[in-house]
Amino acid sequence: MNGLMMQQPLLISSLLVHAERHHGDREVVSRRVEGDIHRYTYREMAARARRLANALAALGVKPSERVGTLAWNGYRHMELYYAVSGAGSVLHTINPRLHPDQVVYIADHAEDQVLCFDLSFLPLVQAVAGRTKTIRHFVAMTDRAHMPADPKIPNLLCYEDLVAAESDQYEWPEFDENTASSLCYTSGTTGNPKGVLYSHRSTVLHTFAIALPDALNCSANDSILPVVPMFHVNAWGLPYAACMTGAKLVFPGPGLDGKSLYELFEAEQVTVSAGVPTVWQALLAYVDANKLKFSSMRRTVVGGSACPPAMLRKFAEDYDVHVLHAWGMTEMSPVGTVAAFKPQHLALPVEQRYAVMAKQGRAVYGVDMKIVDPAGRELPWGGPVSGDLLVRGPWVLSRYFKGDGGNPLRGGWFPTGDVARIDAEGYMLITDRSKDVIKSGGEWIGSIDLENIAMAHPAVAIAACIAVPHPKWDERPLLVVVRRPGAELTREELLAFYEGKIAKWWTPDDVVFVDAIPLGATGKMQKNKLREMLKDYRLPGA
Ligand code: AMP
Repeated sequence: MNGLMMQQPLLISSLLVHAERHHGDREVVSRRVEGDIHRYTYREMAARARRLANALAALGVKPSERVGTLAWNGYRHMELYYAVSGAGSVLHTINPRLHPDQVVYIADHAEDQVLCFDLSFLPLVQAVAGRTKTIRHFVAMTDRAHMPADPKIPNLLCYEDLVAAESDQYEWPEFDENTASSLCYTSGTTGNPKGVLYSHRSTVLHTFAIALPDALNCSANDSILPVVPMFHVNAWGLPYAACMTGAKLVFPGPGLDGKSLYELFEAEQVTVSAGVPTVWQALLAYVDANKLKFSSMRRTVVGGSACPPAMLRKFAEDYDVHVLHAWGMTEMSPVGTVAAFKPQHLALPVEQRYAVMAKQGRAVYGVDMKIVDPAGRELPWGGPVSGDLLVRGPWVLSRYFKGDGGNPLRGGWFPTGDVARIDAEGYMLITDRSKDVIKSGGEWIGSIDLENIAMAHPAVAIAACIAVPHPKWDERPLLVVVRRPGAELTREELLAFYEGKIAKWWTPDDVVFVDAIPLGATGKMQKNKLREMLKDYRLPGA
């Protein structure tokens, strides 16, 4: 017997309709590429998204066709999020930090029909425009006054002209909730980037989950500033969660340096933010150096790579900001776990609470996870052993776009490539990545632990740990370190810093000081490049 409730498909357009109807006066504030601050309301945003949907239809964009973006976090990008998906087409957010060859590859693979871009990325668009196969229209996301005089892109269209020419009367179509809504490519360490194709259903369900108090905790009373880019897994879903909850949205545009971010946090009384640890490092360095405080910020979500314990402690003790450490993947829409407390943690001594916060966290409803040994046998929770982390759920990928990369699933579960332990309370702790694992004498050494300790040293700006060959142990850890400007630190001092903090055999065998550690387009350390840089390195005595 079926239930007797309405069959209403879960569609992204419904989030915008809700925001307009119930939170129409709530503001959306953006730092623009043009240099100024733009502000309007959800009501105005919804009207412009409808005009844009009409404009895209006039350009001949059909349902299921892909519209690419190369854009910062801003209101025009937000309008595209809703207009493209809402009309039944697919929003393809392209990472502008990729090499032009990769942009060409993924625009062709996605068969993008239109490419909308912020003017900051004009040189990149010029580099790819003559080479992509399917793009019929290039749209500069600006007004007529700011259109480049000689863009070197034939028939370049102006976003504001397109929007102004259309009516704001548009009925969002109703269709199957499993229809594709957006597309994001993920660059693995090897091979071509692979497309992760989200659906309306997966997106709306993910939005419900991340808005919950023990997840990213979004409310109508919040002012949310997503630092995490809208081209990186839909800014972790915050553009959708803000509409669902009616939170004020603040977009930083291209201003991602510590000063610009801090000024926006204060001017717009931001309460919640989200980003990768490298962004927070820059912001904390700025507020530290200028002896500033946050007057409104209460929480920040840190994810994308492990949050160094020293960072969550600094946020708490110096700035009264609670860090929500979260873990996820492009393939998971992205949120999988959040290190939110359970009641038994609230009364713990502060050090033990930090230890809970430093884990990647417990699964949000909708994500199931398990760890398995190399033979695929499930490992118990609460044990000392790490295993391959597998996940499943309605917002976890089942296969990559166009089937590239074969069948990624193992027995119905998605292997994350992360290596983790899960404690008896269900908190997952990533100890390594399978592609990065350091295996010494048959035992795993957690490179992330070694990096966290090094990064807690006051003279260390950034540290990475990689495996290097060893004749006896097969592999041993090598620490690669960038010193803070002006700081002095020797190999011996840093290695002595490990004493008592970890098992002796985990201590890195050597330290190499470098000027910079290669970071990827999303701010993560690129260990494959680092390994390449140090391929001729030999351990002393090895
Ligand atoms: P991406 O698809 O680019 O978001 O990368 C996903 C990968 O980033 C995961 O599989 C992890 O290896 C890593 N990652 C994400 N969040 C965290 C975290 N909180 N701690 C450690 N690694 C993380």
